Amino acid sequence: MRYNVDLHSHSGYAGGVGKISLPGVAATMAKKGIDAFGVGDCLQPAWREKFADLLEEREAGLYALRGAAGDGRKARFVMQTEVIFTSAVPSGGRKATHTVLLFPNLRAVDAAIALLLRWKVKLDMGRPFIKCADAGEVAEKCSGFMKIDPRTMVIPAHVMTPRGVFGSDHPVDRLSDVYGGFAREIAAVETGLSADPALLALLPELDGTALISNSDCHSEALARVGREFTALEITRPTYEEIVLAIRERRILLTAEFDPAEGRYFLSGHRAGLSGHGGIGCWFSPDRLPPGCLCPVCGKKLTIGVLDRVLHLSRVQTGGRPRILGETRPNQKAVTLVPLVEVLAAGLGVASTAGRRVNDLFETIIGETGTEAELWDLSPGEIEARFSPLLPERAVAALAEVRRGNFSFQPGYDGEYGGLRLGEKIAWFGQAGIANGD
Ligand SMILES: [Zn+2]
Ligand SMILES: [Zn+2]
Repeated sequence: MRYNVDLHSHSGYAGGVGKISLPGVAATMAKKGIDAFGVGDCLQPAWREKFADLLEEREAGLYALRGAAGDGRKARFVMQTEVIFTSAVPSGGRKATHTVLLFPNLRAVDAAIALLLRWKVKLDMGRPFIKCADAGEVAEKCSGFMKIDPRTMVIPAHVMTPRGVFGSDHPVDRLSDVYGGFAREIAAVETGLSADPALLALLPELDGTALISNSDCHSEALARVGREFTALEITRPTYEEIVLAIRERRILLTAEFDPAEGRYFLSGHRAGLSGHGGIGCWFSPDRLPPGCLCPVCGKKLTIGVLDRVLHLSRVQTGGRPRILGETRPNQKAVTLVPLVEVLAAGLGVASTAGRRVNDLFETIIGETGTEAELWDLSPGEIEARFSPLLPERAVAALAEVRRGNFSFQPGYDGEYGGLRLGEKIAWFGQAGIANGD
């Protein structure tokens, strides 16, 4: 059976401003069509404490809200956290590498908490820092988690963003530069909002690795939960079967943001940067300023995902980079625009959380059941079904997105890309300077 998983989130303990409660998430999952969801920050003691009251184990390793009705396809939770390994890297300095951990049950979570306390890791911040001298020690610590239970998973998170293993912050060229000998054991990496299988197909090192996609959300909002997810082919819903499906690459598809919507796609400096006077700038790889120096502040630009992918492809192929668009990914993906964003763009309103957008969203899923099922309809079916129910502009926006007739003004240095309906904005030939608004 097809099983949609979203295995990376954060509680209110990870910093940031999100509001998240497990009952709230469960309600959103049902609307979005997500079957299993990573609880986030499961090693944080105060959050971990809540699981005892809120959750009960149903199918081996899958948890449900206490007393909730329904089978293994109804709002299941997986024990999950993100940790940050810090270690010296070959390019100099110490890199902080975000990494997702999945645990088979609460017993394994508690064993991991005990292990981290032995390592003198502080657990109060939700996303614990695990200080390591070098890649050898990162490998040892990853193996330590695997010894708790061999079904534990260690998954490099949002690999192309600055704090991902291949990101621009203290850049490295290979997984082993961070994970040492454990790199061989890594069965899956997370694409993150800024990359998708087509981009990662340019990296030979990932040829045999499963690519999974998760929302990494800090909020239970409709625009966040399941904004990226992975559809697995499983025989029955259990934690172990989810892990096996990932390891054996029984991946039907990943649902991906358009990489240009991600916050670090092109190189640039955001308008809000101190000393930037409210002016943002962005550049595609073919239009980078000399030395990658910012024309506004003179400092080095935040190098974007597209530049990093092209660089890694050159290095990992020994100077014969694979060509973007010509290298077939060995996994299927669909590009997804969150429905509330489509509606907001269609109505010409800025907020995805406003009353009008929310009312239209509810009308639509009242018809289709879930957001995921809406996109199974053809553009013609969308027009026929929703014209009597929704404003004309909203229906037109849905049909445009379903036809693929949209693009994003690419994101850069922490700014999300902006949806443009009926336009095709190229990834190359971009050099922009603008007042942020
Ligand atoms: Zn992260
Ligand atoms: Zn600058």
